[in-house]
Amino acid sequence: MTPRGVAVLGSTGSVGTTALRVLARHRDRFRVAALTAFSNTELLAAQAAEFGPSYIGICANGSTPHAGWTEGSRCLVEAATRADVSIVINAIVGAAGLDATLAAVTAGKRVALANKETLVMAGALVAEACRVGGGELVPVDSEHSAILQCLAGRTSSEVRRLVLTASGGPFREWTPERLANATIADALQHPTWRMGRKISIDSATLANKALEVIEAHFLFGLSYDQIEVVVHPQSIVHSFVEFVDGSVLAQMGTPSMELPVLYALTHPERVSDEQMPRFDPVAWPSLTFERVRMDDFPALALGMAAGRRGGAAPAVYNAANEQAVSLFLDNRIRFMDVARAIESALAACAHGPSDTRAAVMRADAAAREHVLEMFAC
Ligand code: NAD
Ligand code: MG
Repeated sequence: MTPRGVAVLGSTGSVGTTALRVLARHRDRFRVAALTAFSNTELLAAQAAEFGPSYIGICANGSTPHAGWTEGSRCLVEAATRADVSIVINAIVGAAGLDATLAAVTAGKRVALANKETLVMAGALVAEACRVGGGELVPVDSEHSAILQCLAGRTSSEVRRLVLTASGGPFREWTPERLANATIADALQHPTWRMGRKISIDSATLANKALEVIEAHFLFGLSYDQIEVVVHPQSIVHSFVEFVDGSVLAQMGTPSMELPVLYALTHPERVSDEQMPRFDPVAWPSLTFERVRMDDFPALALGMAAGRRGGAAPAVYNAANEQAVSLFLDNRIRFMDVARAIESALAACAHGPSDTRAAVMRADAAAREHVLEMFAC
C-alpha cells in the first residue's frame, strides 16, 4: 500500500504538533507531503527535517523563509490542492483557514477539520464545494469525532438528538461578580485541555461550544432543536448521540487530541496504535454532568441563536468573537466585553446573506470593524 499524502496546515500549533506526533507513528499509511505555519520558522524547519515534505509554506511575510519554502498566505491553498496530497489536516485557527478548506474539498480531498471557525462562517458554501468537487469533511474536534464514531453509518433520520459535552472551562464555578474581573491568565487556565490561546479563551466564554453546535449542525445535517449541550467537567465522555429508539451511545476516553486526529485520517476504519493514551475507568470513578449556566455565559446562547438565524449571522458571530478575543488577549477589553461585542455586532451586521464567498467576507469584515469601533480601537 502506498502511503497517502497528508498536508498539515498550521503544523506548529497545538493540533498541528499533535497531528505530526500521530503521523510519525503511522509512516506505513501516511506520508507528510506538505507543511505550513504562520511565523514559527524554527519549529517548521525542525518538522521539515524530520518528515521531509515536498512542499513547505510560511504565511507571514518577512519571516525569512528557508530556501525552497513558499512565502505568503497563498501557500495554504497551494499546499491543500497539491496532486501528492489526499488528506488535508486543517489545524489553522480562525477565518484564515477558509480558502484552504474550500479549495481542498473542491479538489476532491478529505479535509480533517480542526479549524471549526471556517465551517461556522461558511457552512453552506463548504457543503456546496464538497458536493461539486467530491471532497469530504471529517471532524477533528473531539466532540464531533465522538458523534461520528457513535453514528457509525446510521442515517440522520435515526438520530433523535446530539448532546455535546463541555468541560465548563476555567470559570465553571465562578460567580458573575468574579467573572467581571477575570484576567487573561485566569481565562487561559483550561482545566482539562492544553490548547492554543484563542480556543482557550473560547472555552472560557463558552463561545467554543456555540461554534461546536453550529459545526455539528453543518456536519451532521441536524436541526438546532436536536443539538444540546451539557457540562461534564472531567472531559471523559466526548459527546452523546440519542437515537429514535431511545438508545444513547457515548464515546469516551482520556482527554487527548491524538485519537480524534488519527480517526479523522482513517475513518471509517480503525487502525492499531499501541501508543494511544489508554483509558482506565477505575481512574475516573465519578463522571458528573451539570446544566450550563446560560445566563452567566451569554456567548453560548448568542451563538446558538445566530446558528438558528442563519444567513450571515454565524459569520458575524465568528468574526466578532475572533476580533473581541484578540482585543481581550491584548488587554484592551475585559472578559465579559467579548460577549457584549458579539451581541452588538449581531444586532448591527447580521442582516445579509452568506451564499457567496464575497458575502461571507463582507459580513466578516463588517463585524470586525463594528467591534473595533465599539471599543474605539
Ligand atoms: P494554535 O494557536 O496552537 O495553532 C494555530 C496554527 O495556525 C499555528 O500553526 C499557526 O502558525 C497557524 N496560524 C495562525 N494564524 C494563521 C494565519 N493567519 N494564517 C495561517 N496560519 C495561521 O491553535 P490550536 O489550538 O492548534 O487550534 C487550531 C484549530 O483547531 C482552531 O480552530 C481550534 O478551535 C481547533 N481545535 C483545537 C483543539 C486543541 O486541542 N488545541 C481542539 C479542537 C479544535
Ligand atoms: Mg471541541
